Amino acid sequence: MKVFKFGGASVKDAQGVKRVGNILESTPGQLIVVVSAMGKTTNALEILVPKLNDLEAEKLIKEIEDYHYSIAKDCITRRWKEQTISTLNKVFAELRETVKEYPADNYDERYDQLVSYGEFLSSRILGSYLSDEGIPNIWFNACSNIWTDNNFREARVDFTKSKKYFDQNVPIAFENANIIITEGFIGQSGSRKKTTLGREGSDYTAAIIAHCTNAESVTIWKDVPGVMNADPKKFEDAVKINQLSYQDAIELAYYGASVIHPKTIKPLQNKNITLFVKSFLSPEEEGTRIDGAITKLPVPCFISKTEQVLLSLSPKDFSFIAEENLSFIFDSFAKHKVKLNMMQHSAINFSVCFDSDPRKLPGLLQSFQGNYRVLYNDNVELFTIRYYDQATIDKVSKDRNILLEQRSRYTVQLVLK
Ligand code: ASP
Repeated sequence: MKVFKFGGASVKDAQGVKRVGNILESTPGQLIVVVSAMGKTTNALEILVPKLNDLEAEKLIKEIEDYHYSIAKDCITRRWKEQTISTLNKVFAELRETVKEYPADNYDERYDQLVSYGEFLSSRILGSYLSDEGIPNIWFNACSNIWTDNNFREARVDFTKSKKYFDQNVPIAFENANIIITEGFIGQSGSRKKTTLGREGSDYTAAIIAHCTNAESVTIWKDVPGVMNADPKKFEDAVKINQLSYQDAIELAYYGASVIHPKTIKPLQNKNITLFVKSFLSPEEEGTRIDGAITKLPVPCFISKTEQVLLSLSPKDFSFIAEENLSFIFDSFAKHKVKLNMMQHSAINFSVCFDSDPRKLPGLLQSFQGNYRVLYNDNVELFTIRYYDQATIDKVSKDRNILLEQRSRYTVQLVLK
């Protein structure tokens, strides 16, 4: 059994849904298919999370609704048409209700209840399209099988409990069809609230499912030919990497190579499950293979993270940056749910780089104001080069100011202004 994951770009229109159908139809054997929300639906749903006035909310819901109806109408034209429309009617009535009624006092909890509709809609439409084409498939509720804690928006998966559910429910589903369609990105907490696994989390869903079902491989279908050594939009000489070790894949994803979600690799590595990254535009091409082979990359990899904040803290009481200060600093970051992308400290200074998030920054800064001298630089770029040399460093830092630099054996990180 294999696991396939299709991202939002692959199902952003009716042509995309049909293309996915062709890939599935031409793949023999049992498949579990994980699908993300269509196009930019997650971003659109995010706007509904803060309570809006009724008119504004309705306008946004209508846009999301029209978008999904138009895709469904363009690709489901036969026996399944009516049933799909009636399912969509029900889902949108429920979404309207949730937007109106769900309490706004816990932003993260409300976020998960609303944003999870995107994956529900896309998986339903894809499943109906396949049925309409006569391709047997069965829809599988990710929420009832992937169990998490209630750390909304970044829920942690209970692998043991989830595995029990997969062991029980997957064989039953496969009795009905060779293709199981399910939602990426979402799960359910023990208190039966929907949870999400972090933005771009559908890759991780594919890895969780593969881990829990001992799948043979996972394929992530993208609009690029595979894992590239740099973003082709920024580096015209970017090349595709054919083979990657789990170790390099984890490092690259962690530093921000957006092609794979960073949490994806570990559950696969632990069971030695191969991961392929392939293009849905040219499925016959080989893509990138990620597995346990010990290989060093033949080319340097360039990863850029923009919209970063560089924050420097020094204790006002002239104490050193040692255990007590560090524990206070890390605690503040954890409390405000801010993830650190790079950090460095000296005797009296702690510098850290993280994603800029206007919702979190004021509270975070506030927590340091009393005891620390706080300096920060907005809108900087964090550049990581794996398998670097001086020439590659010179190339990316040309005409720019290096605010901070950190080197390890294979990796250099530069904060650039
Ligand atoms: N739809 C979610 C997002 O846009 C999850 C995913 O696409 O992986 O973040």
